Amino acid sequence: MSEPRLRPPTVIAIDGPAGSGKSTVGRALAERLDLTYLDTGAMYRAVAFAAIRQGLDPSDEEPVVAISKALDIKVDDTGVFVGGVDATVEIRGPEVTRAVSMVASYPGVREEMRTRQRIWAAERGGGVIEGRDIGTVVFPDAVLKVYLTASVETRASRRVQEMSDMHYDDVAADIARRDAQDSGRADSPLAEASDAVFLDTTELGVLEVVEQIANLVEEKLGDS
Ligand code: C5P
Repeated sequence: MSEPRLRPPTVIAIDGPAGSGKSTVGRALAERLDLTYLDTGAMYRAVAFAAIRQGLDPSDEEPVVAISKALDIKVDDTGVFVGGVDATVEIRGPEVTRAVSMVASYPGVREEMRTRQRIWAAERGGGVIEGRDIGTVVFPDAVLKVYLTASVETRASRRVQEMSDMHYDDVAADIARRDAQDSGRADSPLAEASDAVFLDTTELGVLEVVEQIANLVEEKLGDS
């Protein structure tokens, strides 16, 4: 019989606002450290996608929370699947992006996603997990917490490059709106953990950021 796992999951938490480089850095870091990677923003997007698909008004809290509790969400290397439907592309579209911060402000939705994120980490022994509240609320005992940011202009330009059909002004406005909503909500707002490493990626390339974080992880794990 195998030994019960006594150590808590080894989580590297990456938080920060939209376009700060969390996903690109998180994926590359997970690959470099041979860990699995979880994009928790995709989970909130999946809930918003399901609500819209079922004809709900995203501002209608109770039914949106009810949907989130029963929803089959699969987020992995191959894509994002919601109730068995491949929603990889649609969850990044304007309709879901407009609704997601509202949906993510509901305590019932957050509680459900937090539970799923903790189960995900427990099943894998940890991983690189990115979002808005990972170091502050979901995994306060993370081995390393990183808070990534960048200027609004840089973040908007990165998003425009990713989504060729979007205009800079619209993307910048969307990012500013989501920043305000995500930082201003009562339940687990976007915030830097007091023990997080703060990295401004405005002037840094992906490889440089990954290298810096990987070194910090190796130092931390070497210490434990
Ligand atoms: O990371 P991404 O921009 O895809 O996240 C979409 C939205 O999901 C965020 O704007 C935020 O409202 C919500 N979110 C959250 N908590 C997380 C991850 C994302 O509230 N841990």
